Amino acid sequence: MGDLGGDITVRDGHLAFDGVDLVELAGRAPTPFFVYSPRRIRWNVSSLVNAFTRRHLDTEIFFASKACSNLWFLGEVRRTGINVEVNSGGELWKARRAGFSPRQVIFNGVAKTRDEIDAALVAGVAGLTVDSLYELERIGEVAAALDCRAPVDLRIDLNVPTLTHPGLVTAHGGKFGIDVDDAPAAFAYAAAHKALDPRGLHVHVGSQITGAEPYRAALGKALDLIDELAADGIRLERLNAGGGFAIPYRDQAVCEPFDYFCAPLTIDDYAEAICEPLERRAPQLKLLLEPGRFIAGNTALLVTTIENTKVKGLRDAAGLRVGDEHWLTVDAGFNTLLEHTNYHWYYRAVVASRADEAADTPFRLAGPLCDGGDVFAGDDDTPYRRFPAASAPGDVVAFFDAGAYTLELMTPYNARPTAAAYAAERGEARPIRLAEGLEGLVSADVAPRAATSRSSAPG
Ligand code: PLP
Repeated sequence: MGDLGGDITVRDGHLAFDGVDLVELAGRAPTPFFVYSPRRIRWNVSSLVNAFTRRHLDTEIFFASKACSNLWFLGEVRRTGINVEVNSGGELWKARRAGFSPRQVIFNGVAKTRDEIDAALVAGVAGLTVDSLYELERIGEVAAALDCRAPVDLRIDLNVPTLTHPGLVTAHGGKFGIDVDDAPAAFAYAAAHKALDPRGLHVHVGSQITGAEPYRAALGKALDLIDELAADGIRLERLNAGGGFAIPYRDQAVCEPFDYFCAPLTIDDYAEAICEPLERRAPQLKLLLEPGRFIAGNTALLVTTIENTKVKGLRDAAGLRVGDEHWLTVDAGFNTLLEHTNYHWYYRAVVASRADEAADTPFRLAGPLCDGGDVFAGDDDTPYRRFPAASAPGDVVAFFDAGAYTLELMTPYNARPTAAAYAAERGEARPIRLAEGLEGLVSADVAPRAATSRSSAPG
């Protein structure tokens, strides 16, 4: 099964996570559900804090809450002492609900409404990250109306190539940030505006960035720009290097170079790539970071049940049957793991109820949705998952590294209620999110009015 991590164990053939027997839990709680490990949250945060503050003491970490804004999860993150990054008025509201003080919040987002800007300024967030020249003017107007100065960090697209999924590239053209050519004028505008307080530069290069080079390139360009601005009298106090640190979705033993499901670097490698140029060229700058996936990704497993099986012919281009394909269908599809089809994301999976059997038989693995796209990517770039030969309906399948961008993206497609989540603590599973339930499926719908008499008809 490869390296599962020390807190994932096998007991009597069952997979257990932080002491919780996943098969036993699936026997008494409806699947699918997520199981989160608070221990892993704490571990991930402390390894980040240690790696960066050891190299650059003045570092502040803001958890990218879009990776997981479940209230329990945010509360666990807050208790580690780090801060939070939000992308909407809703995320700001949730962060505050989870107990973060406004001074611990930076407000990002690519289309902030006037109301959202107003709410962030009234609350007193630590900064607003600005996505465009238009938005800079808009923030200036809202701040002037409130008679305050808005602390702003300008998000600049430094044109840095990255080897990641195309949907996760954020600083190489595309929709994010201000074009690097416009950066000096944007900072000059902000510096001259009485309601804007330009504090920093923001350069998030993308997500699941598996190499250090994009960070080195971004830091080099960012520090050049900061020098250029200083020469024009605009002195910034902070640099936000974003997040994007990769986690290993694939078993590292089978990783090919440039496979973005792999993570060949340690957090120390990322810290070195960012902090070395910073310490050398601008040690006075405060470093901000916004990791999401690195903190949340490996903290949860998704537990599902196999509900269907079949054998279908494998045919060549001429339609001749050249073999058989064995299919298994689990009760979670892209309604529960949207990225598996949206980004063709690979989530390693293990038959948790046969965890001590050899996983040596190829199966096609599908979700339950009435949608041809709801088929899971295979292992090692084949269409097949390797599972124990006897895998069948009733078996429990656990998907790994399902903590980031999962709860956030669930939908009730095909009227399948969104899944529950539990925290594994001292061998007990404690609910941290309830399954939606059937009533939840219609809670936002406005039912047609009951038929009325002709006299009450309109007109
Ligand atoms: N900050 C910004 C601005 C982002 O767009 C993202 C996601 O791409 C993140 C932080 C978090 O990235 P990750 O979860 O890869 O660390």
